[in-house]
Amino acid sequence: MPAPAKPRPPLPEGPFLVVGLARSGEAAASLLAGRGEQVIGVDSAEPPAAKRLADAGIDVHTGADGAGLVARARCVVKSPGVPQQAPAVAAARDAGIPVIGELELAWRLLPNRFCAVTGTNGKTTVTELLGHIWRTAGEPVAVAGNVGTPLASLVGEVDPRAMIVCEASSFQLEDTVAFAPECGVLLNVAPDHLDRHGDLDAYLAAKLLLFANQGSDDVAVVNGADPAIAAAELPGAGRRVDFAGRLGEYETSLLGPHNAENAAAAATAAAELGIPEEAIRKALASFAGVPHRLERVAEVDGVLYVNDSKATNVAAADAALRSFDGGIHAILGGSLKGGGFADLAGPVAERCVACYLLGPAADPLERDLAPAWEAGVARERPADMAAAVAAAAARAKPGEVVLLAPACASFDAYRDYEERGEHFRSLVREIAE
Ligand code: ADP
Repeated sequence: MPAPAKPRPPLPEGPFLVVGLARSGEAAASLLAGRGEQVIGVDSAEPPAAKRLADAGIDVHTGADGAGLVARARCVVKSPGVPQQAPAVAAARDAGIPVIGELELAWRLLPNRFCAVTGTNGKTTVTELLGHIWRTAGEPVAVAGNVGTPLASLVGEVDPRAMIVCEASSFQLEDTVAFAPECGVLLNVAPDHLDRHGDLDAYLAAKLLLFANQGSDDVAVVNGADPAIAAAELPGAGRRVDFAGRLGEYETSLLGPHNAENAAAAATAAAELGIPEEAIRKALASFAGVPHRLERVAEVDGVLYVNDSKATNVAAADAALRSFDGGIHAILGGSLKGGGFADLAGPVAERCVACYLLGPAADPLERDLAPAWEAGVARERPADMAAAVAAAAARAKPGEVVLLAPACASFDAYRDYEERGEHFRSLVREIAE
C-alpha cells in the first residue's frame, strides 16, 4: 500500500545541541553527525552513550546542564526525559533557538507513512499489536518508539514503503512542531506524570498535540468512552473516528477489559489504513502480548502468578485488578510519582484477598486504601519483593492470583520496571521448582 509521502519541512540549521544522551538522544546525535551536521552532546549525568558518541568524534559534555553551550548552537534537540524547565532548554527558548524532539527530527527525515499511538496506558501494547497486524497482513512495517528501536535509527535504513508504527509519549509530543501522522491513536487519559506536566489539562493538551498538524486526509482514532477524550475538541483537520464503537467486535487472547479496548483501537486504526478485516482478526487472535504487561508467569499449586510490573500508575493497576473477578493477592508499591491511591480502594476492596505493600509508597497506600482494610482485605508490609512473593505464596489458595501491579514507579529498588518484573519472575520460578 505505498502512498505518496507527505511533504516535510526541512531540518532547522545546525549546529545542533543534543540535550540528554540516553537512547533517543544518542540516536539523534548519531543521525545528525552521520549527515555531516555539526553536533554537540550534553548530559547532566554520565550515560554510557556519552563515551560512544565521544569515540565517534562528537563533542560531548557530561555532568553539565548545557546552558553554556546553547550559544554555540542554532537548534536544540531535546530528549523526552529532559524537562522543559531544564537550563539548556530554557536558555534556547529565551534566545529564540528552535527546540525539537527526536520524533520531529526523525519524521522530517523519513519518507514513510506514520501511525502514531499515544495515551496514558497501552501505547506499547497497541504499537506492538499494530506491528503484528501489518506482519500478519504481509505488509511492510517498522515498529519504533519508547522501548526498542528509536525512530532516528530508522532513517536511511527502512523500506520507504513500510508503515511506521510508533509510540508517542506526551513528553515526545511536547517537542513536536510539524509532526503529522497519517493516523494518530489516542487510547486514554488518566493521571500520570503530573510531577512533570502539572495538571491533567496540561497533560491532555500534550497528548492532543498528536493531532494538531493533521490534514483532512489523516485520521484521528480516539477512545470516545474516555470522558476526558469524549469532551475534548481535537486540534487539527484529521477525521475523528471513535474506536469505542468497535469494542467487543474482536476476539483476543489477552486478559482484561482494557485489552479489549486496545484491540479495538488497533483494529480501527489498521482498518482505516487499509488493512483487510481478515488479517486484522487473524492477528488479534494470535497476538502473544508484551512482557511485563499482565504477563502470565506460571501456575504453581493452582495459584496463577501474573507480572504487570509496567502498571506504574493507578489507572494501569486498576485495569490489572479488573482483569480478575476476585481472589487477588496484589503486590503494590514502589516509588512515588505524585498523586494518591484512593481510586484503587474500590477495586481492591472488591477483588483482593490481601495486599503486600512495598517501598516508600507503603505508607500512602496504607492510608489511601483504608476503606479496603475496613472491608476485610488483609495487608502486610514485607521488607522487599522476595518477602512479598513469599508472603503471597504462603497465603494464596488454589484458584487465586498473585498479581504484581505496583501502581508505582520502581526506582526505589530497581533500575526500571523491567528489572522489577524480571526479579518477580525469577522469584516465582524459585517457588515453582
Ligand atoms: P504504555 O506504553 O502506554 O506504558 P503499556 O502497553 O506498556 O502502555 O501498558 C502499561 C500498563 O498499562 C500495563 O500495566 C498494562 O497492563 C496497562 N494497560 C495496557 N493497556 C491499558 C489500557 N487501555 N487501559 C488501562 N491500562 C492499560
